[in-house]
Amino acid sequence: MKYISCENPNQLALGNKDKPVHTAASALLKVNRVGICGTDLHAFKGNQPYFVYPRVLGHELATTVIDIDDTASGIKKGDQVVIIPYMNCEECAACTAGKSNCCQRMKVMGVHTDGGMQEYITVPNRLLLRANDMTLDEIAIVEPLAIGAHALRRAQTKRGDLVVVMGCGPIGMGIIQLAKYIGATVIALDVNNERLQKARKSFGADFVLNPTESPFDQLKEFTKGELAHTVFDATGNKLAMQSGTDYMRHGGNLVLVGLFKGELAFHHPTIHAKETSLLCCRNATPEDFMFVMKVLREKKFNAEAYITKRENYTAIPTAFNTWASPESNEIKILTVWD
Ligand SMILES: [Zn+2]
Ligand SMILES: [Zn+2]
Repeated sequence: MKYISCENPNQLALGNKDKPVHTAASALLKVNRVGICGTDLHAFKGNQPYFVYPRVLGHELATTVIDIDDTASGIKKGDQVVIIPYMNCEECAACTAGKSNCCQRMKVMGVHTDGGMQEYITVPNRLLLRANDMTLDEIAIVEPLAIGAHALRRAQTKRGDLVVVMGCGPIGMGIIQLAKYIGATVIALDVNNERLQKARKSFGADFVLNPTESPFDQLKEFTKGELAHTVFDATGNKLAMQSGTDYMRHGGNLVLVGLFKGELAFHHPTIHAKETSLLCCRNATPEDFMFVMKVLREKKFNAEAYITKRENYTAIPTAFNTWASPESNEIKILTVWD
């Protein structure tokens, strides 16, 4: 079977190897779609300090079951499945407390172990969710949207809340539309006006702000001085993260979804006066995956606007460099492995 491996930073190679063999606890799956994520692009660029090469990338997968022995799971040959790519240990304090998303010994497929850029893959049965009533494209975007669903659940976002989403990339756009589904009022922030227009027109943001155009005053005016219950950072940008509480009301939440690989500093009297709840978000739980699948089944998420490019997998070794460039305006690129 064909597979693509990231041999070294800036080097992807198409190769051939034997099909994997599944065990009683895992299923053999045909890979149909692999979504490209910021994590994959960073690994390719060599910006993941502890990343081990060579590695098969890809954790946003749509697959079909080729073989499965376990009948208890209810999943059968021919079923389309969503994959939860977080291989948690099931034994640590986080796992036993139901926080499988932040397992102490977490292995994420495509990051710590080989991922989905291969024609066939084996995955533990317990990490499969049946999705025969969804399209393969919808199945492939469940994981990135589950990250946003998890962030909204961490902040206990509810109908009528006023939320600010900083960053209109794939994670931010997901948070925006899922927050609208919940019934929140959403204000989107980005330095890119094209993305802001898309946040409003395609994903339902109620108000958009460019941080270079006195956003604080505009937000104050829009919210009649009240500011946001919750500010979500989906930029991973140090300055954006540190300025998040400026948009937040007293008693609010600052939710860090993006990852900045360094130290953050906050003016303590300011965050103290507001009694800020600072929440970090890592991955997502099965509950978050199921929430996203419900929203997609109800056709309440604009998957068409979210998936901005579809390419055959053979394009990956040559096109990846362009996809990873900061000028790329794509939201979600799906690679097709049919
Ligand atoms: Zn991802
Ligand atoms: Zn664990």
